[in-house]
Amino acid sequence: MPRPKRTVEEYVRGIRAGDRVILGQAITLVESARPEHQAQAQAVINTLLETRPADTASVRIAITGAPGVGKSTFIEALGMYLVEQGHKVAVLAIDPSSSVSHGSILGDKTRMERLAASEQAFIRPSPSGESLGGVARKTRETVLLVEAAGYDIVLIETVGVGQSETAVHRMTDVFLLLLLPGAGDELQGIKRGIVEMADILAVNKADGDRIQLANQARAHYLNATHLLPAKASGWTPQVLTCSAQDQTGIPGIWEAVQAYRDQTLANSYLQKNRRYQAHYWFREALDSGLQALFYNNPGVQARLAELEPEVLAGRMSPFAAAEAVIRKFLES
Ligand code: GDP
Repeated sequence: MPRPKRTVEEYVRGIRAGDRVILGQAITLVESARPEHQAQAQAVINTLLETRPADTASVRIAITGAPGVGKSTFIEALGMYLVEQGHKVAVLAIDPSSSVSHGSILGDKTRMERLAASEQAFIRPSPSGESLGGVARKTRETVLLVEAAGYDIVLIETVGVGQSETAVHRMTDVFLLLLLPGAGDELQGIKRGIVEMADILAVNKADGDRIQLANQARAHYLNATHLLPAKASGWTPQVLTCSAQDQTGIPGIWEAVQAYRDQTLANSYLQKNRRYQAHYWFREALDSGLQALFYNNPGVQARLAELEPEVLAGRMSPFAAAEAVIRKFLES
């Protein structure tokens, strides 16, 4: 059954009033590939942006780590803690596998049941799409929508095994990496370089007979982060332990997020970083928009079909062929 059509004003009013159904429908517009949906989504976002409160009123937190480290358990524990403190919490995700197989590394298991039942929380699974860039862009736009609906804390989850954590890094203020007790980098199943991105490292599952191993991992990562070059934010990464299952160590992690926020607001890094990120997504949207215009152009498609076999057969230089296709685009 087709959804009742809404006007831009109805979306804007509904989102501002915190109407979760309308918020969900607006996100569906953002995720839609149909040009008329896209146009309406852009109009909604722009109207919301024109009159929103200070850019830095919200906290955007990246949460990453290997599959099984306890991301969903942790997000539920942190989310419930924040809701109890009176915050409104949105949980978004970028699942890199949603752009390939429509499968899901982040999992379809019933996740975050308690948080999902809370009126103060809004959970949206990862959008799907043809490319990671497309998936990431939709999530970045969704951040603006949930903030306009009054969610002051936005948690964006991803796995730390590919490129998606870089995309999440580019749309968040603070980067939280979850780690396993005991294991070194190679056993953590995380990508090299991800530790460098982290502002807060939390060794999860510090409970039962794993407490000592968790402390060992903490010492290891404290050492590792000390060896890293200083961060542009001026922040020294913190390494903590927690148990998402027993809900211990969660307040300490929230304190670290707040300390990070206080420091980077005071030295203006947070504001600068958000402007830099907005600029990045602007250029990224230009790049992908131009590519779509180019490759959807019938003249380009025809010329490509002619010239590709020539390049493959070695009868034409790749550069001359590319120029010929671009010329065709400019003429059409
Ligand atoms: P994700 O794949 O990173 O989202 O991990 P999950 O949150 O699904 O957790 C993976 C498994 O680890 C589940 O069986 C959880 O119950 C368990 N788990 C998560 N957090 C903790 C924790 O703090 N302590 C212990 N002992 N187990 C945990």
